Amino acid sequence: MRSGTQQDDDGLFTATGEARAVALFRLVASFMAVVMLTFVLVEGWRIWRDYRHALTNAQDAVTNLARATAQHAEDAIRQVDAITAALAERVEGDGLTHLDRKRLHRVLRQQAEIMPQLHGLFVYDAQGYWLVTDKTSVPPNANNADRDYFVYHREHTSRDVHIGSVIKSRTTNELIIPISRRLDHPDGSFAGVLLGTIKVDWFVRYYGDFKIDDRGALVLAKRDGTILVRRPFSERVLGVSLASSEIFRHHLPYAEQGVVEAKAVTDGTQRIYGYQALSNYPLVAEAGLSRESIIEPWRHDMIKSVVVLLLLMVGLSAFAWVVLRQLRERIAIERALLQAHQTLRSLALTDSLTGLGNRRRLDGVLESELGRARRQDYPLALVMIDLDYFKRYNDRYGHPAGDQCLRRLGEVLQAALKRPADLAVRYGGEEFTLLLPDTDAEGAGAVVHEILHNLRRLALEHTDSPLGIVSVSAGIAIGYPARAVVSAGALIEAADAALYEAKHQGRDRVNLAPQVGEWQTP
Ligand code: GH3
Ligand code: MG
Ligand code: MG
Repeated sequence: MRSGTQQDDDGLFTATGEARAVALFRLVASFMAVVMLTFVLVEGWRIWRDYRHALTNAQDAVTNLARATAQHAEDAIRQVDAITAALAERVEGDGLTHLDRKRLHRVLRQQAEIMPQLHGLFVYDAQGYWLVTDKTSVPPNANNADRDYFVYHREHTSRDVHIGSVIKSRTTNELIIPISRRLDHPDGSFAGVLLGTIKVDWFVRYYGDFKIDDRGALVLAKRDGTILVRRPFSERVLGVSLASSEIFRHHLPYAEQGVVEAKAVTDGTQRIYGYQALSNYPLVAEAGLSRESIIEPWRHDMIKSVVVLLLLMVGLSAFAWVVLRQLRERIAIERALLQAHQTLRSLALTDSLTGLGNRRRLDGVLESELGRARRQDYPLALVMIDLDYFKRYNDRYGHPAGDQCLRRLGEVLQAALKRPADLAVRYGGEEFTLLLPDTDAEGAGAVVHEILHNLRRLALEHTDSPLGIVSVSAGIAIGYPARAVVSAGALIEAADAALYEAKHQGRDRVNLAPQVGEWQTP
């Protein structure tokens, strides 16, 4: 069946619904993808940023800790340095041989009492024997000539303060750091040693006050790497040297302070260290936070974020799945609707008995064909065909046979149409209409003659017709819309009148209507 313009328009309307649903499906799918991607990117960026923050904060923290530790050590040692300097001046001025021991003992006691870090103050002679101390009792025959600091001062003429490695006190058994000075006779020869000792415990308690985690470390060491104090503290670490550590080998020689990530020599823990060399003494303070403790809170937060993100993704995916499924269903429905619509439309335009188009179909097509013929300047033929004596046929053979006869005629009409644009419809009852675009009177006459001829050849019995067989009469009207004003009604009327004339003339024939419409002279 030929597809009419009106059907196309309606079809388009329904197809647009499906296209819109497909577009919406794509929009929703890509929107969901963009939303999810955005979530992942934003959350990923946030996690990365938090990681950087955690590291930066840790770097700041260890820098501050190292500075505080260094400053603390510097202050503690400077006080002892100042005291020993003043005392050395006094002892040398008095001369070691004429020392007022009682008075000096009182002075040493007073000084020791006002300095909490101080373990003791001692004056030794050139042989290492104890001359004066802040302590009330002196061990009998005590001699410190074997101590490293004593040997050092005896062999070095330098007047500078000397900081020794940690030793155990002979009076109290405490761990102490010796701060010592050489005493000279007026002639510059070695007169003895003045010693101030700082309690290691004093540092240990101070370091214990800092809020750092169990795996963090605070260290005070000599420039040669010898550890003086450490948190966590154990006597075992006092023998350990940091000389081979990353900081001492690769950083300290070039910068007095810095931040370094390294594995600890003492316990193998990976830490971020801040270090700071003391400005006046050959010591270095280090503060380290374990990488694990820095990363741990971040990791905890990250896992939570990832879980929330995953839940969100699952939720969004489920939502997207539901929405997309509904859209898919809608697309299927739109498709089914479109098909149903097309089926209905073709049913509405089809004559159920003959399978040809019906009058509604003709109404729809006729107007558009008239317009087309006008635009393209060609004639349009309309033929009305009516069965002869059909009432009698029904009366004789019955209505079902009449229907069968109508079907046969329908087949004959359809077979006579050659061009795709030709149309045959059942106009109503036993009347049929042919619409033949771009066909003049001669062409239409040929088509109708073929129909009459074929019907005669079929020779369908009709005893109540003078011919004895079924026949038709036809009226042809030719419209030339480009040259005369032609309406659909006028064309049908003219064909009908011509048909009436054919009936009048004796039936089983075709008659041509006069020109339709007012002809305009070109
Ligand atoms: P004429 O030669 O002048 O056309 O005479 P006619 O009898 O064919 O014309 P008339 O208009 O008097 O009768 C038309 C008949 O067509 C009436 C009706 O019985 C018959 N008819 C109309 N539609 C149908 C149909 O769908 N099926 C059948 N079987 N008969 C139909
Ligand atoms: Mg009739
Ligand atoms: Mg008839």
